[in-house]
Amino acid sequence: MKDNNCIFCLIANGNIPSRTVMENEKFRVILDLGPATAGHALVLPKEHFGDLFEIPADWAADAMKTAQEAAALIKEKLQADGLNIVQNNGETAGQTVHHFHMHIIPRYKGDGQNILWKPGKPSDAELDGVLEKIKA
Ligand code: 5GP
Ligand code: ZN
Repeated sequence: MKDNNCIFCLIANGNIPSRTVMENEKFRVILDLGPATAGHALVLPKEHFGDLFEIPADWAADAMKTAQEAAALIKEKLQADGLNIVQNNGETAGQTVHHFHMHIIPRYKGDGQNILWKPGKPSDAELDGVLEKIKA
């Protein structure tokens, strides 16, 4: 299903022009308008799924395959030193557009970006408690 009020549905289906890196039957990969680095791209499904919890498993698998293909192309053509795949779900996690997407972020030595986190220092008991909750 497409949502005509969703900007990424409109872009993915070609109703709004975009800088398309590659496209297949189910996905369009476009350049991000606010890139972290040169070549930062977004993998957009042509159907509307809000986030990781809404996208069906077969679409999620195909999204990763498409991301892998686009990442290899971008890394090679732009001579990147590394590459991050980022996928945000929910506003707390930084999602601003509520149409599932994967970020492909090529990395260059000295690019000044920091797509890392501050490591915590939980006790063994705290780690065990978390694991118990997940497995209960
Ligand atoms: P999120 O924060 O939801 O994970 O990522 C949304 C991304 O979409 C941001 O990196 C933002 O720069 C990008 N973006 C938002 N609107 C547009 C648009 O209209 N066109 C393109 N190409 N990128 C967009
Ligand atoms: Zn959408």
